[in-house]
Amino acid sequence: MTGNKLNIARRKVLKISAKALSFALLLTEVDIAWGAKILGVRIWPSEDYTRITLESDKPLPITQQILTNPDRLVVDVQGLELNPTLKDLVAKVKPNDPYVSQIRVGQFQPNVVRLVFDLKEPINPQLYTLDPVAEYQYRMVFDLYPSTPPDPLMELVKSSARKESALVKSNEEIDLIAQFATKKDRLEKPSAPVAQAIPEIKEAPQPAKYKRLITIAIDAGHGGEDPGAIGSMGSKEKHVVLSIAKRLRDKIEDEFYMRCFLTRDGDYFVPLNMRVQKARSVQADLFVSIHADAFIETHAKGASVFALSQMGASSTMARWMANKENASDLIGGINIKTQDRQIANILLDMSTTAQIKDSLQVGNSILKRISGFAPLHKGRVEQASFAVLKAPDIPSILVETAFISNPEEEARLNDNAYQDRIAEAILRGIKDYFSKNPPVARRINS
Ligand SMILES: [Zn+2]
Repeated sequence: MTGNKLNIARRKVLKISAKALSFALLLTEVDIAWGAKILGVRIWPSEDYTRITLESDKPLPITQQILTNPDRLVVDVQGLELNPTLKDLVAKVKPNDPYVSQIRVGQFQPNVVRLVFDLKEPINPQLYTLDPVAEYQYRMVFDLYPSTPPDPLMELVKSSARKESALVKSNEEIDLIAQFATKKDRLEKPSAPVAQAIPEIKEAPQPAKYKRLITIAIDAGHGGEDPGAIGSMGSKEKHVVLSIAKRLRDKIEDEFYMRCFLTRDGDYFVPLNMRVQKARSVQADLFVSIHADAFIETHAKGASVFALSQMGASSTMARWMANKENASDLIGGINIKTQDRQIANILLDMSTTAQIKDSLQVGNSILKRISGFAPLHKGRVEQASFAVLKAPDIPSILVETAFISNPEEEARLNDNAYQDRIAEAILRGIKDYFSKNPPVARRINS
């Protein structure tokens, strides 16, 4: 029964019950029969937004009100009795939640549970319900976005300001030396001051290679409600890939000419097109999505690298993988009503031919580095229609670091040394690529 039908049916019952007291018993019986069971309550705080999920065995109608002074969100859930699982939500709010200071839960009316979210700042809530999918039953999702969302580019520019000015300064010095060297070469008899300024240099000094900081967007797959693939020992892909992503971030930050942006830095879900939009908003030079997936056959093993395809998948396996990854939004949960279809369409309409060419190149560099220590599933970059690789202006690749469905590889994925080696291999592949293709244009704002 859909939420609407349930609502109508319930209203009828309430009308009848108002007419005669003798119906009270009947009403209780009906309500017990219809009473939904809460199966789980989850809270996923993050700087992006805080999500609260109530999972139930039946779809339930919800209504919302925003109150100010102080800021509160009030949600009424129809057809529900207060129970211990629901009360658990109160204790699940962490003191460092960016948006929620506390949650109060109470039986507002017979059959109506009221949840009051006390807020730390004004929010823009998105409430919606999701039908059963994968391991989940019906979900009520409350996404609490800040009214004034943070600007990722501004934050990145700010956090990398010192590095940027160090790069500019060192470039000026390198260019100066290179200039003098050129002059010295040209002059048969160098004038005294120039000759003195140039120390003995065997190779001709080159002008600075990296004119600006290269921005790498690292995307840890899945997160929050979407655990990704789960290994036989219980390892979740979302945790493994975040750990590898953070190692890679630290390595990138150690490079004087690179800076890193993570599309997620905690255990929360980011919709696929939001990952692409985030990378574009920080003007990333490269997008690397990190995964550790499962395959039907547990003996499947080895790392693989994928790029986007405009014309079908390069293999059955690649197509299967892309379908699986693209289902992330269904499991992670997105509000279909507010998904920006317009932006999605613009992205689809733009040509990705050049992007794919660059992606294959960087993908091959990474694959080569990984092959130095780990088995490969396939020796070349595979292609399929991955939604997360669709930024038309950013080379984008997806690295399957190993198969979590393979018990041997699952153990390796949990090993610190392996995580570090795979992060190192990806870094080296990235460096190989940019060494051959240094970005020249200095962009506005970067
Ligand atoms: Zn994945």
